[in-house]
Amino acid sequence: MSFKEIVNQDHIVNFLLSSYKADRISGAYLFLGSDGIGRTKMAKEFAKLINCKNAKGDCCDVCPSCKKIEEGNYVDIHWFKPINNAITISQVRELEKYVYLKPYESDKKVFIICDAQCLTEESSNALLKTLEEPTDDSVIILIANDISALLPTITSRCQKVIFNSIDEAGIEDILVHKHKVPLSHAHFISYLAEGSPGKALEFKDLREDLLQKRSHILNSVYFRKFSLFKMEEFSIKDNTQKRKSINLLLDILLSWFRDLLVVKTGVDTPLINLDKKEDLLKLNNQYSREELIKNISTICDTKFFINSNLNVKLTLSKMRSDLWK
Ligand SMILES: [Zn+2]
Repeated sequence: MSFKEIVNQDHIVNFLLSSYKADRISGAYLFLGSDGIGRTKMAKEFAKLINCKNAKGDCCDVCPSCKKIEEGNYVDIHWFKPINNAITISQVRELEKYVYLKPYESDKKVFIICDAQCLTEESSNALLKTLEEPTDDSVIILIANDISALLPTITSRCQKVIFNSIDEAGIEDILVHKHKVPLSHAHFISYLAEGSPGKALEFKDLREDLLQKRSHILNSVYFRKFSLFKMEEFSIKDNTQKRKSINLLLDILLSWFRDLLVVKTGVDTPLINLDKKEDLLKLNNQYSREELIKNISTICDTKFFINSNLNVKLTLSKMRSDLWK
């Protein structure tokens, strides 16, 4: 792994490499972009570059520092991830403790806060104090998907690094040419990945499972009955994970109604479920154009309510009665 393997973020690679060459590395960065876009990888590669013993334009990937960072056991790189959806005050206190200690093996310690949008008010205020008194031998990288969830006083003290999203065609291309996924499946996966290569690669590995879910959901559309409740996603204990998984099911359901509308109206747009054209043609007479538009809008509203933390079961029950009344 090296900077060069991070897809479609050349502007960031160039910016970080030139800051490194000019010896102008900031004390704090904010890596902003959607989940799975490469922010964590970029932070790790940057940490490797800063600590590499043979860096020549990029980290070498073979020196002891590069290897240890890759394996996640380098003593001067500190990772912080949310615990129960929060970056806690005790995590920030731990960070603060190490910021003011000398590095153990390197010239600079690197602190990487994943999902920094999960900083609580209390932990944000503690972090702000650290950012206000930077040390020359520390780099703090905040990784976030939503700048509005962070205190403006924090964001104003960080060098902002904005990640590009990638269009569906770009992701499809990576899946087909780099990972040898058949085009029809790559098309479906790139729709679900919503501009995130990381998600696309995760979905690629879950392909069989996703295709099975897609068939199951198609049955719901065929028989006009809601069978999503029977799916394993409903027994997931972790609430964040549960919402994420149910969102994915809703995206698949949405893809069917969206494709049915494409078939019905005959517009010149590729189908998401390209390999299921025959099924879509068979279903064409079961739904009117108005019904398809109403159903698409109902599913979009349901996704919005679920993402706004409304009760999942009640929201889906309402959707069921709205879709097939
Ligand atoms: Zn190295």
